[in-house]
Amino acid sequence: MATFKAIRIDKADKGTTAALTAFDEAELMDGDVTVRVEWSTLNYKDGLAVTGRSPVVRRFPMIAGIDFAGTVAHSSHPSWKADDKVVCTGWGMGETHLGAYAEKARVKGDWLVALPDGLSAREAMAIGTAGFTAMLAVIALEKQGIAPGSGPVVVTGAAGGVGSVAIAVLSKLGYHVIASTGRMAEAGYLGDLGATEVIGRNELSGPAKTLAKERWAGGVDSVGSTTLANLLSMTKYGGAIAACGLAAGMDLPSSVAPFILRGVSLVGIDSVMCPLVPRKVAWGRLASDLDRAKLAEITHEIPLDQVIALGPQILAGQVRGRIVVKIP
Ligand code: NDP
Repeated sequence: MATFKAIRIDKADKGTTAALTAFDEAELMDGDVTVRVEWSTLNYKDGLAVTGRSPVVRRFPMIAGIDFAGTVAHSSHPSWKADDKVVCTGWGMGETHLGAYAEKARVKGDWLVALPDGLSAREAMAIGTAGFTAMLAVIALEKQGIAPGSGPVVVTGAAGGVGSVAIAVLSKLGYHVIASTGRMAEAGYLGDLGATEVIGRNELSGPAKTLAKERWAGGVDSVGSTTLANLLSMTKYGGAIAACGLAAGMDLPSSVAPFILRGVSLVGIDSVMCPLVPRKVAWGRLASDLDRAKLAEITHEIPLDQVIALGPQILAGQVRGRIVVKIP
């Protein structure tokens, strides 16, 4: 029996279990491309999967891990051949399709993106789903007409994965970035990434006024709940907020006032089912608009056998920047 190392999630009497174990190759799911996985990452959703804190895993057994970079081993898909370098994020990997914390992955060729020119496989995963999502959010703001001259842009969950990459990209593009964090001890880190101002998370976490003083033209929000409601109520006339996360909650206790009285737009960001064309655009933009030195600054590397232990930490908001996972 051929096996490979993987983090396997199984259903238990109460909840689920997660273990680094040998996985039988015969159990791999259908797909036309088999990839030797070299790098993966730890995202918030991976924390939910390995801890079983939220039912993101919907098939058992599951291999956790929502994103990988690696090299094609076999392909019957016309776009890919052996030795191609590829990146894959989302599409239900680690949720409904066997995922990335494994030496091998079998996926649909239509899900893959070529490793962007100039990025190493490790750098692509240092970016990972969180960084890709941040780039989708920045592009969404641009589509709403937000430019560096429009006014400041706020980033919430600033010291996390989405937040850190969003700050680095926005500052490189010339925006005045206001970083909102619950960890003021990270103000120096956020300033180094390019934040012009750092504000405390509690300024934005209480119940939102219907409309408040206009503070920013745009925002990237990975927090949700009252924080997103406050962002909307403080957005300047004609501004836009890109909503991509729920670190504080899935609710949105807001009113229509920012939309109908200030023409504010709320744009939803989904990285999982994002179609191929905008995917390629976002990866291309990451290769050109993200400073590599800053990417290195936000990246911390761990081996595969530390992923399960770090799951609770990312859910507790204790992970700074991005964690890249070396696959043996
Ligand atoms: P991280 O854990 O790296 O970052 C989240 C950050 O949010 C934390 O670092 C912390 O930042 C802040 N935070 C945590 N808990 C709270 C809280 N209770 N109240 C306010 N702020 C809090 O996660 P990621 O960056 O990987 O993901 C961020 C969010 O985006 C998650 O909700 C995730 O599910 C979502 N996401 C969505 C995607 C999509 O396709 N839409 C794709 C990827 C992620 P600080 O300490 O600076 O305040």
